[in-house]
Amino acid sequence: MGAQRVAERFTELYGAAPQGVWAAPGRVNLIGEHTDYNDGFVMPFALPHQVVAAVSRRDDGVLRLHSADVEGGVVELAPTALAPGGDAEWTAYPAGVVWALREAGHAVAGADIHLSSTVPTGAGLSSSAALEVVVALALNDLYGLGLRRWQLARLCQRAENLYVGAPTGIMDQTASACCEPGHALFLDTRDLSQHQIPFDLAAGGLRLLVVDTQVKHAHSGGEYGKRRAGCEKGAALLGVDALRDVPYDGLDAALAGLGDEEEVRRLVRHVVTEDQRVERVVGLLRSGEVRAIGPVLTEGHVSLRDDFRISCPELDLVVDTALAAGALGARMTGGGFGGSAIVLTEVTEVDTLTKAIEEAFAGAGFTTPRVFEAVPSAGAHRLD
Ligand code: ADP
Ligand code: MG
Repeated sequence: MGAQRVAERFTELYGAAPQGVWAAPGRVNLIGEHTDYNDGFVMPFALPHQVVAAVSRRDDGVLRLHSADVEGGVVELAPTALAPGGDAEWTAYPAGVVWALREAGHAVAGADIHLSSTVPTGAGLSSSAALEVVVALALNDLYGLGLRRWQLARLCQRAENLYVGAPTGIMDQTASACCEPGHALFLDTRDLSQHQIPFDLAAGGLRLLVVDTQVKHAHSGGEYGKRRAGCEKGAALLGVDALRDVPYDGLDAALAGLGDEEEVRRLVRHVVTEDQRVERVVGLLRSGEVRAIGPVLTEGHVSLRDDFRISCPELDLVVDTALAAGALGARMTGGGFGGSAIVLTEVTEVDTLTKAIEEAFAGAGFTTPRVFEAVPSAGAHRLD
């Protein structure tokens, strides 16, 4: 979505040009799924798809919100009257960011905001974090708050957890705020230390396809909460602060120590092996062995399917079909129960794989999936 078009629409809506235009991307998680609330490792990269927001500061206690992607007109709110739980609409995301900033002591008095997005919603590509981060970055700049990227991500997570009421980890907001082009972000969700890891697909003659199954997940729904509670139970039974503290080479002993807690055992095994997979992928990418991450991605899918049990027939069909048609690796990505899968492939195989996946979906009677190439792109930034 062009910055100029978004600025023009802002001017039509609010009667004056915006003070600035910002963008924040959606993300794909390369590896490290359901590790973020276990203090573990994740490795997202930013998509070229982004939420673009034209914004002006207002100092009169009025917050006006408009989205090109949602039916309905401008919504007007008062920053001083914002309270968690009072808003079930899309406006809870930007309003939550204003609430979180104010709660942290930043005197954000108001704003006019118009936004437009190319990030598919509910596809596991984190349109919600992109929406939060673009608003946070714009207000940070316009109000001169001087907050660092990781601090903005933390405030956006607070907005989503407490104001919207979705119990998500820190990955999505950090990815949208901090990613760099041509890199994946290796993030330790315990201490928030980050490393930019070169992720050059093109140089190796490779591509990463995102396959949006169009099956909508209910992220704040019960299954996510159940997995999270199960992981906490595992940590408690093992006497550690978080599953991150179970070392990979101590996994067998830990699993044996869980007695007849079969479900907890599966969850623990996924989280501990997944952290190790992230470290393996980091090592491979650092030594330029991009192709070799394929089997690690596939192992991750098997673990999510069989141990964490959050896949679904559509995601499994993408992975099975892609591998059978010659992909180097494939896995579901995101929270699960729908959303998207990723496929690592030779550039020469992109068309064959895409066709094979589309045909398999048609054969199974599933909705046609949306397939696109994901190029590791820039994190949030000002456009004008
Ligand atoms: P995901 O983050 O995986 O895309 P979520 O359910 O977490 O899915 O967030 C999707 C929600 O974010 C939408 O239902 C909507 O409320 C809000 N949202 C995302 N993009 C936009 C947009 N362009 N305009 C308005 N609201 C949006
Ligand atoms: Mg989301």
